[in-house]
Amino acid sequence: MKFEEIKSIGIVGAGTMGQGIAQICAMAGYTTILFDINEKALQAAEASISKNLDKGIEKGKLTTAAKTAALGNLAFTGNTLQVHANVIIEAVVEKLEIKQSIFRELADINSADTILASNTSSIPITRIAAAVPHPERVVGMHFFNPAHIMKLVEVISGAATAPETAETIQQLALKLEKVPVMAKDAPGFIVNRVARHFYVEALKLLEEGVADVQTIDKLMQASGFKMGPFELMDLIGVDTNYSVTNSMFEAFHYDSKFRPSRIQQQKVDAGHHGRKTGKGFYDYS
Ligand code: NAD
Repeated sequence: MKFEEIKSIGIVGAGTMGQGIAQICAMAGYTTILFDINEKALQAAEASISKNLDKGIEKGKLTTAAKTAALGNLAFTGNTLQVHANVIIEAVVEKLEIKQSIFRELADINSADTILASNTSSIPITRIAAAVPHPERVVGMHFFNPAHIMKLVEVISGAATAPETAETIQQLALKLEKVPVMAKDAPGFIVNRVARHFYVEALKLLEEGVADVQTIDKLMQASGFKMGPFELMDLIGVDTNYSVTNSMFEAFHYDSKFRPSRIQQQKVDAGHHGRKTGKGFYDYS
């Protein structure tokens, strides 16, 4: 698939990341379809995209006509069979088997040159692609949170990814007004590999009782980080962050430096997933 041929984009998963990705695709003029198995997630995504666009208008960055055009490009569906597109970007939970099964299902109903891009934070693209027909069109397209604001996009080539696929996605990222960085395939790619220790070490400090959540966050902010590790985990989603750590722990052959934290596991078990559930390391109610 050549960049110039892209007219439509399908997004799978309308959660924290999928909604922002769908928004920018629609704003860039692509016919965009956002799919989720959860009707409530679709409704929340629709409300959140509309709110983001209104904020853009308030700030003078967007016209009312541009909002109407973006919403006109965007459709929401709970039916997989409607996900026909030139590029499909999946942003579902961080589980290899789920990502593979979605790509296999969508490969069956789309053409063989539809690009299948994964927004995975940590799962090697080579592994995802291995179970999908025509793995040369499988690529990583890793956005950062919030996807409609953060500029960086890692474009990751797995062992089977065709160079043209990665180039097309690089051009697409530019069209979406992002800054693409080409990366080779490895667990966590570039940013998450480095950033993992920001979370893991902060959780170890908490487990050891060295300092509390607020103190660690305040200190990290004072030392120049925009957000402390606990605020950031709440923004990302404590469940998603935990899944990413687990996936990297496994991928690095259980190297103890990536060991997931029990405190974080408890938060996940309790449903305290951060801002999206109203409670995480902080209370948002
Ligand atoms: P999320 O939990 O907020 O949303 C996931 C969505 O996927 C949910 O709405 C869920 O209903 C939907 N879903 C689950 N199974 C599905 C299926 N089979 N078909 C269709 N929809 C399905 O997750 P998120 O934080 O948006 O993360 C999504 C992906 O993006 C993960 O791979 C994550 O690692 C990656 N990512 C997350 C962040 C972040 O900061 N949250 C940043 C970059 C990348």
